[in-house]
Amino acid sequence: MIIKDMKGIEILDSRGNPTIEIDITIKSKKTVTARGIAPSGASRGEYEAWELRDGGRRYLGKGVLKAVNNVKLILKHTKNKKFTQKTFDEKLCNIAGPNKKKIGGNTTTAASLAFLNASAKLKGKWVYEYLGGKVLPVPFMNIINGGRHAGNRLAIQEFLIVPFGAKTFKQAVQWNSEIYHTLGKYLVDIYGPTAKNVGDEGGYAPPMENTEQALSAIYWAIEELGYNGKVGMAIDAAASEFYDKMYNIDGASMTPPELLEYYEQLIAEYPIVSIEDPFEQNDYRMFSELRKTFSNTNVQIIADDLTVTNLSRVKRAIDEGSMDTLLLKVNQIGTVYEAYEAFKYCLSHGVRTMISHRSGETEDTTIADLAVGLETGQIKSGAPARGERTAKYNQLLRIEERLGKKAKYAGKDFRKYGRKIRMFER
Ligand code: PGA
Ligand code: ZN
Repeated sequence: MIIKDMKGIEILDSRGNPTIEIDITIKSKKTVTARGIAPSGASRGEYEAWELRDGGRRYLGKGVLKAVNNVKLILKHTKNKKFTQKTFDEKLCNIAGPNKKKIGGNTTTAASLAFLNASAKLKGKWVYEYLGGKVLPVPFMNIINGGRHAGNRLAIQEFLIVPFGAKTFKQAVQWNSEIYHTLGKYLVDIYGPTAKNVGDEGGYAPPMENTEQALSAIYWAIEELGYNGKVGMAIDAAASEFYDKMYNIDGASMTPPELLEYYEQLIAEYPIVSIEDPFEQNDYRMFSELRKTFSNTNVQIIADDLTVTNLSRVKRAIDEGSMDTLLLKVNQIGTVYEAYEAFKYCLSHGVRTMISHRSGETEDTTIADLAVGLETGQIKSGAPARGERTAKYNQLLRIEERLGKKAKYAGKDFRKYGRKIRMFER
């Protein structure tokens, strides 16, 4: 694939902040143009790739015109040269320097996603098809928002539902939507009409005081619809956000062992199958303590801010036994290939992967195709509501429809998937 052109533009993300979109034109037998857009986090890990923002007064400092301008620099280094995903992303890393500081991880993310989309288009294929996967992931949908994603008092950032018992992805979406709306009605009954207002990821942001209230409301909705045993629950604590020497949660100030005990209690009470970022982003040891505690259960321990899709942090987390599941976000590291390397390392070390959106999202749906392509078996993209969230689930519905009989829903086996992709190695 030969790079012919690349254009950047400043557009808005789902929170109304600027982000960068890149259209790339590549040529082999024919010439195609395709797009990539960078998302942006709120509970960003300290060790994520550098996000380049303009500063100053424009857009309250959040403009990305410098990033857009850097697209010209990338083009200067790549125009009329031949690349694969691997070599293109390596080139981006070279230009961007350590931590992507020279041109911004947002710039490289948009360029790298655009290159992947263009490569598939060149072959006349959808991205999942180009990558060759057939497994539809279990959609972990975030239906109550807290932490940095909502204006309520919930310390835990995300409360998710996990429809592993569905037969198809389509059925999983249906169940989740039913639970979401049943929960909405319940919240209005208990907390009043404002309880249906939503947070950054489309989940409700009710005026609750503590974790138990959120978990019990969701559990009520699952039971009400008769989905117990078929739909599990999950949390993303994003614990760095309520950590300040101690963990300030639910009106208490807890030490790490106290927080661990608190998680044990919650897991004993509710059908929780997954906990993400249970401790702050430097505490590899407490992650592994928690993992040991739940080693005889099917509760998975996901690392997000701890590992930030960064291979060196992933290696350490695996060495220390801190996780059994990696949360993979392309923009945390800045290129598709580097994210793939983290995934591949996990796969060969018995650690699974969940593909993830960011709280500041866009209409870009590449992560949906990546989840099927890599057959990760798991994805999270927020609630079954708000366009930037449903864009991903809707793309997965289309993929399942298009695969027809060949489609397989990960379902109960969601912990067993993951597949290497030969074309990424070139
Ligand atoms: P973020 O949240 O995109 O705001 O970082 C998502 C997450 O923590 O998983
Ligand atoms: Zn997270």
